[in-house]
Amino acid sequence: MEQEVKTCQNCKKDFVIEPDDFVFYEKIKVPAPTFCPDCRTQRRFAWRNEWRLFRKKDIHGKEIFSNYHEDSPVKVLDTAEWYSDSWDPMQYGRDYDFSRPFFEQFKDLFYQVPLMSRSLTNPVRSDYCMNATDPKDCYLTFAASFVENSAYSIWGANSKDIFDCYMFIESELCYDSVNLVKCYKVLYSVDCEDCNDIIFSKNCTGCNNCFGCINLKSKAYHIFNQAYSKEEYIQKLKEFNLSSRKNIEEMRNKAISFWIKFPNKFMHGRHNANVLGDYIKDSKNAQYCWRVINGENVKYCHNFSIGPAKDSYDHSGFGEGSELIYESVIVGIGAYNISFSSQCYSTISNLSYCYYCVQNSSSLFGCVSLRNKQYCILNKQYTKEEYETLVPKIIQHMNDMPYVDKNGCIYKYGEFFPAEMSPIAYNQSFANDFFPFTKEEAEHHGFIWQDAKNKKFNVTKLGSELPDDAKNVDDNILKEVISCVHAGACNHECAGVFKITNQELQFYKKLNIPLPQICQNCRHYARFAWRNPIKLWHRHCMKEGCTNEFETSYAPDRPEIVYCEACYQQEIV
Ligand SMILES: [Zn+2]
Ligand SMILES: [Zn+2]
Ligand SMILES: [Zn+2]
Ligand SMILES: [Zn+2]
Repeated sequence: MEQEVKTCQNCKKDFVIEPDDFVFYEKIKVPAPTFCPDCRTQRRFAWRNEWRLFRKKDIHGKEIFSNYHEDSPVKVLDTAEWYSDSWDPMQYGRDYDFSRPFFEQFKDLFYQVPLMSRSLTNPVRSDYCMNATDPKDCYLTFAASFVENSAYSIWGANSKDIFDCYMFIESELCYDSVNLVKCYKVLYSVDCEDCNDIIFSKNCTGCNNCFGCINLKSKAYHIFNQAYSKEEYIQKLKEFNLSSRKNIEEMRNKAISFWIKFPNKFMHGRHNANVLGDYIKDSKNAQYCWRVINGENVKYCHNFSIGPAKDSYDHSGFGEGSELIYESVIVGIGAYNISFSSQCYSTISNLSYCYYCVQNSSSLFGCVSLRNKQYCILNKQYTKEEYETLVPKIIQHMNDMPYVDKNGCIYKYGEFFPAEMSPIAYNQSFANDFFPFTKEEAEHHGFIWQDAKNKKFNVTKLGSELPDDAKNVDDNILKEVISCVHAGACNHECAGVFKITNQELQFYKKLNIPLPQICQNCRHYARFAWRNPIKLWHRHCMKEGCTNEFETSYAPDRPEIVYCEACYQQEIV
């Protein structure tokens, strides 16, 4: 097939389908997309709540934790009960109705079958977590796999003692940092790999005992990129007195002003071959990808924190051990040939339009909340022969009688679930984290929006009155309900108040960290600001005399200096 330029149904912008793309679509027998890559990503993300943990009543009326807001019309069961044999999702099964569009019928089923209240696999003393696999002694830790004794952190894997971090792999004892790989005792830092005892540093690899540094490789005892003796370094750090919040904030500003004078590589990533995007590592042929680790032959994919993931398009989230995945969110752990599905994992194959179908499920179409089932359509059991005869007829029917959304977009076979059917309000979905909308914009596009409810709190301590120095904190703080100093006046879904947990206090004591004055949501947003968007701009290398060009997620109006790979490597000392 030749390259083809199409116009997105949704945003009306042109997008290109390459000959290789057609080969992939042919391989998995799907038509070429009619939405552009960005609109497809946004639509998938609108079905995912990454880190907002809600209390919601289950179908028995008991209050439990959930991915879904209390006002979301979905029915939920506590995860342990959902996985049990005490209920039968097949009782909601129904015949396919050839007089109505498929998506309408799917929606009816979807809002009747109880869903897993939140994704949480093998938790150990980790009640306040979700979207997590094997968390142990974790608190408010989300989208994490094999993380231990950690809190207030998102997107991590194989790590322990991580507090207030975002994107971390194989790391330990780290605090208030973004994008760490194989780091130990790294504080207030961004984009570091293989580092120990690092504070306020950025883009460092293989370093130890560095403070306020940037673009260093295999260095020790440096402060603001200047070498010191070990004794001088220790003395200097003592003088900085980093157990004081005031000093921390002063140093943070100093470090940020220092970093901005140095160039950044046009993308974050190492050990790759033929990749395009950002935050890509150990990958081969990964195009238009964002945070893909251990991916091969993947395009428009996002957030694979472990991998391996291969031969997939438009797959967002998880990825672990997945192959031939298309237009899906959170699919992994031995997943093969899955399309247009969400939250499906654990040795599954040949699923289309499924939601929460797990554990050895295969050959399912339009099913919800099934475990270990084969040959089902809309949660109704068929024989293999019946299934194989009926599915092509449904696909034909989806094309003959498509669903049309509020804005006139047409959903035939080959489109992911319409965003307007999502059980998650746009502002609570992953989509708003990357494609922010105002309430008006979201509603114009047919999304639901959930206004924050005013809650009343009995504040016992003002955030502004917390001791400045970690030395002056005692265990009495554990009893306090502390007001966030942002007091909801920010754009961070401010929780208004927060508490200090014992686990957290022990961590602060161990590292001499002063208490935070803002709530965990405000802290999340402060870190989100350090990650680049899922968007690429065509730019020139900013090194004088260099004519190289590249695609980068650093927007042209940003203050950072951005270099091509070759020029950047010359800067690394
Ligand atoms: Zn579009
Ligand atoms: Zn707050
Ligand atoms: Zn805030
Ligand atoms: Zn250059």
